[in-house]
Amino acid sequence: MSFESLNLNPSILKAIVESGYTEPTAIQSEAIPVVLAGHDLMASAQTGTGKTAAFMLPALHKLATPSAVKSKGPRVLVLTPTRELATQVNDAARKYGKTLRVNTVSILGGMPYPLQNKLLSGFVDILVATPGRLIDHIDRGRIDFSRLEMLILDEADRMLDMGFIEDVEKIAAATPASRQTLLFSATLDGNIGKLATRLLKDPKRIQIAAQQDRHENIEQRLHYVDDLAHKNRLLQHLVTDTDLKQAIVFTSTKRDADMLAEDLFAQGHSAAALHGDMNQGARNRTLTKLRRGGIRILVATDVAARGIDVPGISHVINFDLPKFAEDYVHRIGRTGRAGASGIAVSFASHKDMMHLKRIERFTGQNITLHTVPGMEPKRIPRAEAPRSGQGRKFSGKPGGSSAGNGGGYNNGNRSAAGQPRREGGGYARSGERTSEKRPNSGGAAHHSGRRHG
Ligand code: ADP
Ligand code: MG
Repeated sequence: MSFESLNLNPSILKAIVESGYTEPTAIQSEAIPVVLAGHDLMASAQTGTGKTAAFMLPALHKLATPSAVKSKGPRVLVLTPTRELATQVNDAARKYGKTLRVNTVSILGGMPYPLQNKLLSGFVDILVATPGRLIDHIDRGRIDFSRLEMLILDEADRMLDMGFIEDVEKIAAATPASRQTLLFSATLDGNIGKLATRLLKDPKRIQIAAQQDRHENIEQRLHYVDDLAHKNRLLQHLVTDTDLKQAIVFTSTKRDADMLAEDLFAQGHSAAALHGDMNQGARNRTLTKLRRGGIRILVATDVAARGIDVPGISHVINFDLPKFAEDYVHRIGRTGRAGASGIAVSFASHKDMMHLKRIERFTGQNITLHTVPGMEPKRIPRAEAPRSGQGRKFSGKPGGSSAGNGGGYNNGNRSAAGQPRREGGGYARSGERTSEKRPNSGGAAHHSGRRHG
């Protein structure tokens, strides 16, 4: 993804080039189109991933069109928890907006009122403020929000931690209800969710996986498979390996999870299924047994697998690839717990190639091709050509160089991560989503006949 493809105003593109940015970070390529489309947004991504530009660039883009309202008040208001952050945001607004004529003002605690009053009485396009001081000015009737179009809460989690929730709500209430509201935070859980419900209208959610979710201690392997029989042979090979202490095998459907668990059990393995059709009691019993080592192979669907934290799990096996790239990250995170190393194996047929690429784009990592002697795929998918077969370490810094471009098509952390989310109809999905309810992809047909294969 390039900045050009985001359809930002050419003056802004120029400022981006001057800033030395060559391509948007994951949060930028996800968030900017959503903001430009006028949606409210709640977004989380790790520190240092370029969230400021993710909201400032589309905000500036909007400012390039004159306001229809005749007043001098701010069109964009950014609230930040601290003065330091407000200053940074203000600097960013000036940097990215330098080729546009925008007036930015910051209103921070600890600064003299007379100067602030003067600044507020002139034309303001972007106002960056800490909540406490801004409230003072609002209470004194010094701020005209009549042309405010956008309210941005930066580091909303910290604002809540610092006890600014009431101030933030009060400020929001002083702005027009027609505004667009963006919330950026390290997390979107708990109180942030509640705040968002009160201040945002039908928001899109974007969550970019955090660094610690990148699972550097997990070796990601790929096996090309010809057909279901080939998958079953490979699985048998893997589960008889003595290095495999405990494993979770993921299937797309509950039915497949049950059938595969039965098959493995019939072959003499201590295997069991775990999925959303089981009642909570049964699920808990299965998990306890897994934790105590009474189950060596758990066959599960995505919905049942969230949050399983069992240190003995040495392997995760994607018998079927997850439909959503984000689930891939959740799945492989079941191994390599508590600093241990783990192995994540994925089976993919030639039909899965596009999907595999999406997963790799999302994680910013290549999955390394493996073969088992005597079980090599008959057919090597075409996408094989650009693969180096080398896993590539992710370099977490925006603008940092990727160490080697193993896949040719996989361009580091700033690639279009999260693209698969759009398949779900929204920009991001949260919490529990039953894989079982997803429309069947090619996978289901592919599986029928497991029993005979
Ligand atoms: P966050 O708010 O997510 O912690 P910032 O917005 O402060 O991150 O950005 C962190 C650093 O990354 C800043 O130095 C910024 O200039 C830089 N940066 C932002 N976007 C890009 C990009 N697309 N390419 C390279 N560097 C970027
Ligand atoms: Mg920030």
